[in-house]
Amino acid sequence: MRDTGEIDLDCPWEETARQMARAVSNLGRIETELLAYQNALDQHAIVGITDRRGVITAVNEPFCRISGYEQSELLGKTHAILNSGVHGKEFFRTMWRTIATGGTWRGEICNRTKCGKLYWVDSTIAPIKAECGRIEGYLAIRIDITERKIIEAERAAEIEARTRAETLLRDVIEAIPDGVAAFDTDDRLILWNQAFLTTYPKVADVIRKGMPFSEMVHLGVERGQFPQAGTTPARQRAWIEACLRDHIEATRPILRDLGDGRWIQVRESRSVSGHRVGVRTDITELKRAEGIIRRQAERDPLTGLGNRKALIKRLAATMRARKKDGDCGALFFLDLDNLKQINDTLGHDAGDHLIATLAERLSAYAREGETVARIGGDEFAIVIPRLTDMAEAIAYGEDLLAMLDAPLRMQGRSIAPRCSIGLALLPTDARTAKEAFKHADIALYQAKARGRGTLCVFDPAMKAELEERRAIADDLAIALLADEVDIALQPKTAFKDGRHTGFEALVRWQRNGAPVPPPLMVSVAEENALIVALGYRVFELALTSIRALTEAGLEPGSVAVNVAAMQLRQDDFVARVLGLLDKHGLPPSALEIEVTEHVLLDGAGDGIAQTLADLRAQGIRVSLDDFGTGYASLTHLKRFPVDCLKVDKSFVRDIGRDPDDAILTRTIITLAHSLGMEAVAEGIESAEQYQFLEEQGCDYAQGYLIARPIARRDVADYLRGLAALGPVRTGSPADRP
Ligand code: C2E
Ligand code: MG
Ligand code: MG
Repeated sequence: MRDTGEIDLDCPWEETARQMARAVSNLGRIETELLAYQNALDQHAIVGITDRRGVITAVNEPFCRISGYEQSELLGKTHAILNSGVHGKEFFRTMWRTIATGGTWRGEICNRTKCGKLYWVDSTIAPIKAECGRIEGYLAIRIDITERKIIEAERAAEIEARTRAETLLRDVIEAIPDGVAAFDTDDRLILWNQAFLTTYPKVADVIRKGMPFSEMVHLGVERGQFPQAGTTPARQRAWIEACLRDHIEATRPILRDLGDGRWIQVRESRSVSGHRVGVRTDITELKRAEGIIRRQAERDPLTGLGNRKALIKRLAATMRARKKDGDCGALFFLDLDNLKQINDTLGHDAGDHLIATLAERLSAYAREGETVARIGGDEFAIVIPRLTDMAEAIAYGEDLLAMLDAPLRMQGRSIAPRCSIGLALLPTDARTAKEAFKHADIALYQAKARGRGTLCVFDPAMKAELEERRAIADDLAIALLADEVDIALQPKTAFKDGRHTGFEALVRWQRNGAPVPPPLMVSVAEENALIVALGYRVFELALTSIRALTEAGLEPGSVAVNVAAMQLRQDDFVARVLGLLDKHGLPPSALEIEVTEHVLLDGAGDGIAQTLADLRAQGIRVSLDDFGTGYASLTHLKRFPVDCLKVDKSFVRDIGRDPDDAILTRTIITLAHSLGMEAVAEGIESAEQYQFLEEQGCDYAQGYLIARPIARRDVADYLRGLAALGPVRTGSPADRP
């Protein structure tokens, strides 16, 4: 208050209240001054006066307006009438403590109107003192702050809601085990979780709000967080560019190697609001599982060696390297020749044991960098990445053969694993891994054909031969369907009386107008699973001939048919043969089966022994062909009982020239007789041979001296010619008319 008596409205209400209290207490002051105050206050403030107990003694018009009470309703009441219940007791206690001790209290109070609405006032309460200083009452000046309070409350609610949403968001992203990060429209980092930091430990210390994505990537590359980025600046630049592009396009999941054994998958997308949100998932376990599956897919379970797939991979890598540096490497294919025999005689566990032992030997033999793989049941391969020349490769292969030959003990027996080896030089012999594979296979095939236990080096002529064999197989298949395969019949006679006893059926086929040698035809048929069809064709033709000759009143005797191991392994072989005999109305004695000694040695098995026994039980004779060429032992003869041994023509041929062959022939005949069998000599071309064999007591004769194989259509004439000669003849056919 100035001396002029005007009220200074700029003065703080607190001060005003104090001044007023002073003025009121000084009742002697000018009434006009009071009126001026009242006017001013009535316009701007809610004023109330109470006595010292708090009973309202005066209120102004704004007081009534805001509280909704009439003046009369207020006077004589305490402020409790306005209590909103918002403030606690302590609040009022503090207020009273201040004013009752002469102080001025200021605070914000929430009151309640007569009709129950809440309103807020900024209150300043000062004591009214008598001249003696005694407090007579209190003056309260209040300003309506309801509107501000509402705004403030709204803002507080808003802030609280936002804080709650942020807390929830944080809780959510922290609960996600994947690394989560969000970037704003300028590609600056705005949100991330702890897992995001753990994902990139090499840059975690610098990650901050507002950090550009590109800065993170650059730093990551610099600190070795991304080994995929390479080490040269040019490669790193290109990698970073690709990385930023992927981030912006955010179309496909990206795999990243984190350089510490972990792999992550990054999936990013742009949100509706334009933010780029990315999730980084740790896929290390998945990668590991994938690796295990891949390794298993390339591993042979029995030996633990790589399989065919692994070999081709390794081979391709070696070929690429050798083409670059011009050096050479080698590919060896090994085949275990006697696995089948061991499986058949000692069981499959023994076969597995043999394979595992061989795998161990090969692994121990292979030097660092060389790859050993198992590529088939009894086939192994070795890739030698670098060699000086062919001589070194051959020496390696020969050592390998010698090393593998060492016998091993199984079920109390000593077994010598016999192997054949094919060798192809890399990349000299082939342009691609597939071709190298094929060439080593061709060489192996040749090694096996050359008599097993040998090493064969690929040469292009082998390939031509193999292709020729394939062409023969194709043509033979067609010829069989077209009934173009025929037989010739070679007569057999008995030494004792020179009588005709029967024929041997020998297969005949003209390919492109030229006869195909039967051994070639038979081996091609065996390789291409045509032998069974070929065999039945021969049976059919042989039995048809015998029936026709018999029906023509001739005496053809029996017919011997050559059969291969694969035919004997057919479950229904005996039944089908008996069926054919039946079909032609012929007795079992009309038929003889010839199996080579090799059938017993190679495919030795209980199945074949049983088939032969069944045939004999049915009355069909069985002969062992080419005897003496295959090292069949007495054990074999015991296991595969036969009716007749056929002395191979190679011994017969040299009877007059090689004393050893003469002894051998004699031994075979003696052996046959001592085992209760008969002996046949084949390939007799000269009277001298005939005489020698006759002297040794051989039972039957076969060969050009007696007759060459005869075409089917001429056989009847041959038999008629014999009949014309009379019934019994002795001595060499050469001496006859
Ligand atoms: P193999 O069973 O030992 O038949 C005897 C072979 O010796 C026949 O050859 C025959 O023509 C020939 N030969 C007969 N006498 C003489 C002779 O005095 N001197 C000479 N140098 N050779 C003579 P071919 O017909 O060429 O048959 C060869 C081999 O092919 C047969 O030997 C047999 O192992 C096989 N073979 C023939 N036909 C068949 C068949 O239908 N099935 C099967 N699995 N193999 C057959
Ligand atoms: Mg024969
Ligand atoms: Mg023979």
